[in-house]
Amino acid sequence: MRILLFGSPGVGKGTQAKILSSKLNIPHISTGDILRQAVKDQTKLGMKAQAMMNVGELVPDDVMIGIIKYTLSQLKCSNGFILDGFPRTTVQAEELDKLIEELTLSNVVVVAITAAKEEIIKRLTNRLDCKVCKSIFSKDELENVTSCPKCGAESSFFQREDDTEEVIKKRINVFIENTKPVLDYYKGKREVIFIDGNDSVENVNEKILAELKIHSK
Ligand code: AMP
Repeated sequence: MRILLFGSPGVGKGTQAKILSSKLNIPHISTGDILRQAVKDQTKLGMKAQAMMNVGELVPDDVMIGIIKYTLSQLKCSNGFILDGFPRTTVQAEELDKLIEELTLSNVVVVAITAAKEEIIKRLTNRLDCKVCKSIFSKDELENVTSCPKCGAESSFFQREDDTEEVIKKRINVFIENTKPVLDYYKGKREVIFIDGNDSVENVNEKILAELKIHSK
């Protein structure tokens, strides 16, 4: 199964993608993670992307399409993947469709997670990531905790540079303007499964798995 996980920043895509990846045994491809690694490694791509990411803007389509073409070509023969953070514009969606056709990839579903804006802002300002295993936590969960509950790494938590209130607002606006229209693009082209993300991580995951089961029958 090939899942295109769609939704606003902070809606829980990363968290859900990690759980689905482990339960369905298919790789999780996060374009945000790919870019953050490139920034960390100070590669040409990283240096180009860093300034845009820090202010919550999108990295240009041609750069992102290049990354996805390379990544999906490597996975052509695998039995699935979860794409998290791509496509983020209609141009990216069009190019992804061309690539899906070229690589003759089947069983592609769009899972769109939704949540209220206030909840999204609350989650993002309250979020800490583990720099070792990339797990995502809330600050409340990590009160009095010094090692990562998932991988055990010591003092590995950090707040993403783009999780400040100002950049969060910008990222949400970019989502509304550039990314939401992707759903209109898919109308009539692909089945979109809508999932209410205003719920616990476990409940949202159960809902996604139940819908995927129905869809794959
Ligand atoms: P994320 O981890 O998905 O929230 O992505 C973090 C940042 O990486 C975004 O705010 C963008 O600057 C950049 N980014 C990730 N995926 C894309 C994409 N598909 N298109 C453009 N920029 C992206």
